[in-house]
Amino acid sequence: MFTGFAEKYPEYEVITPQTKQSFTIRSLNVLEEERLKGSLLTPTKVTEHLNKCIFECLVNKPEKVKDMKTFQQNVTLKDRDGLLYGLYHISYGDFRNYDIKCSSCRKDYSVTITASDTFNINPYEDGNILEKKIKIQLPVTKSVSVVIKQPTLFDESEALKRLGGSLGYTVEVIVETLIIDSFQEDVEVQTEPTVYSDRSDIIDAYRSLPAKDKRTIYERYVEEFGKYNVELKMKSYCTHCGNEEVVTIDLVENFFRMVYTS
Ligand SMILES: [Zn+2]
Repeated sequence: MFTGFAEKYPEYEVITPQTKQSFTIRSLNVLEEERLKGSLLTPTKVTEHLNKCIFECLVNKPEKVKDMKTFQQNVTLKDRDGLLYGLYHISYGDFRNYDIKCSSCRKDYSVTITASDTFNINPYEDGNILEKKIKIQLPVTKSVSVVIKQPTLFDESEALKRLGGSLGYTVEVIVETLIIDSFQEDVEVQTEPTVYSDRSDIIDAYRSLPAKDKRTIYERYVEEFGKYNVELKMKSYCTHCGNEEVVTIDLVENFFRMVYTS
């Protein structure tokens, strides 16, 4: 009777780009791959599935990561990109048949590339990013400030659970606004500003902003938080028109599809 091979799965160490924690992650096995391929997922379920999949493949993790909840509380969305890269790299080694839409002729073509050739990391070196908050005064809506932060997997999962099924809130807007911790509005007759920190208030307030204010929020986010990440970039040449461009691979977006075609 088969009780498992003695040899261990291949492992890979990932240092997360934002919280700089060390994780060791092992290869997916065929059974897990089958499960991934067999799962039909709604958009709100994709990230939940992804997080579980990563968590189950962790071999060594930091002491404070004890279970799924503490894992999600201590890992940011950008850290997850690093872990997903590790999982994909140790499981497959290359991105096979990755589909690209040419920005010049708009036709599709696919490429295969060694995963490690695309890898770049810009780690956050400035203390604990999970405690960092930045207050920005909006350029157009001058009486309003927004406090931004780096969301964790837990923030994402809570928001999707609570608002994912709500009429009118798309997964995109829920995830997009996770970087907003609160809005603060100065009101003339009050000594203290009015604070909006409930997630659905935040989304409604965000949607009411002039476009230029939104742009300011995202520019500051990238500068203060978002640029500390892993980036998977490759140079590619269109097989139809020869156009050369640099393509960034989004693993969260493509992970399941890539497992499916591997
Ligand atoms: Zn082209």
